[in-house]
Amino acid sequence: MQNVIDNIYQQVKCQVHNGNVARYIPELAKIDPDKLGIALKTIDGVLYVAGDANESFSIQSISKVFATSLVFSVIGDDLWRRVGKEPSGSSFNSLVQLEYENGIPRNPLINAGAIVVADMMIDILANPEKDFLSFIRRLAGDQNIHFDEKVKNSEKDTGFRNVALANFMKSFGNIHNHVDDVLDIYFMMCSVSMSCTQLANAFLFFANHGMIPATHEKILTISQTKRLNALMQTCGFYDEAGEFTFRVGLPGKSGVGGGIVAILPKQYSVAVWSPGLNGKGNSESGMLLLELLTTKTGTSIF
Ligand code: GLN
Repeated sequence: MQNVIDNIYQQVKCQVHNGNVARYIPELAKIDPDKLGIALKTIDGVLYVAGDANESFSIQSISKVFATSLVFSVIGDDLWRRVGKEPSGSSFNSLVQLEYENGIPRNPLINAGAIVVADMMIDILANPEKDFLSFIRRLAGDQNIHFDEKVKNSEKDTGFRNVALANFMKSFGNIHNHVDDVLDIYFMMCSVSMSCTQLANAFLFFANHGMIPATHEKILTISQTKRLNALMQTCGFYDEAGEFTFRVGLPGKSGVGGGIVAILPKQYSVAVWSPGLNGKGNSESGMLLLELLTTKTGTSIF
C-alpha cells in the first residue's frame, strides 16, 4: 500500500497546479495551490501517508458530515423531518430548489441542509461550538483540532449566499433560532482546520459500522452508519456526485478548502488535500489521487 501511495502521489504531484483555489472566501484565496497530501488509515490501525499529509487546512464542507452525524446520533430519524436525503444535482450553495420545496433542503451535505443542521445543533446541544469540537476530537482521537477564527470571520464578511439561504429558510419556518446565531455555528463548523491524517482517523468509524476502531466507542448504529455512507455516496459532491462515484467508487465528502475524505467499508478511510478546485468546487488533483488509488488497488464499493 505504501508503494501505491508513493507512486500515485508522485504522478499527481507533477500536475498539482490544476484548478483554482476558492477565491470567494478571501482567507482561502491565500492558500498555496501546490499543496498535496494523502493519508490512508486501515481499520486495523495502519497509517500510510505522503506529501503534506500532516499539515492542517480548512475542512469546509467536510464538516457537514460531522455535524450531521452528531445531530443524527442525538435525535435519530427526526432529522429527516426538516432536511431531505436526495441528491440535489445543483451546486453546493444553490437557492433554486428551496422555493418550490418549501424551504426543506434536499440533503444535509449542501449548504442549505447544513445550515438547518446548525440550527438543530443550537436546539439540542448545551454548547454547540464546544460540543462540536469535542465530537470531532473524540472521533479523531486527537485534542489538537481547532477552528480558524480568521477563516470564520472571512466567511462571515462575505458569505452573502449563506445569509440568503438562512433567511429564505427562516421565511418557511425551517430555521428556529436567530439567523445570525445559526450562521455563526455554520461558519465555525466550516472553519475547522484538520490535516489529512486527522481526517482519515476521524472518518474511520464510518468504515467500521459506526464504531471508532481504536477505542471501540460506538458513535452511530450500523443502520445509521449505512445511511450516512449512502448520503456521502449520493450527495457528497453536489452536482458531481455521479462523476465521483464513476471515477472513484467510494462514499466521500469534499470541501472547498481542497480536502476530500472517502471510506471503504470494513477496510479503510482516506483523506486527500490539494487546494485547486474544479468548476464544481471539488479538488481537481484530490479526485485524481483517489481515482488512481481505487483503480490501482482494485478497491471500491462496486
Ligand atoms: N463554507 C463554504 C460555503 O459555505 C463551504 C462550501 C464547501 O466547502 N463546498 O460556501
